[in-house]
Amino acid sequence: MKHICPNCEKITDVQYIKTNEEITVKGERINVPVEYFKCMECGGEFEDPESKHDPLALAFNEYRRLHGTGSF
Ligand SMILES: [Zn+2]
Repeated sequence: MKHICPNCEKITDVQYIKTNEEITVKGERINVPVEYFKCMECGGEFEDPESKHDPLALAFNEYRRLHGTGSF
């Protein structure tokens, strides 16, 4: 698929990557799904600027769910 690469500053062939990443919240490692693009031209990785996907927010939500606390 084609997307604008912020490194190349042009429309390039990119690969859509869906994977899991560990994010540390208050010293606890939390596995969250992450989505990003990888440029086939330069190999650079970048997030979809139109995506509302926020791995950090997901990690915080998961932390709250695990600990049953509504606030920090
Ligand atoms: Zn690129």
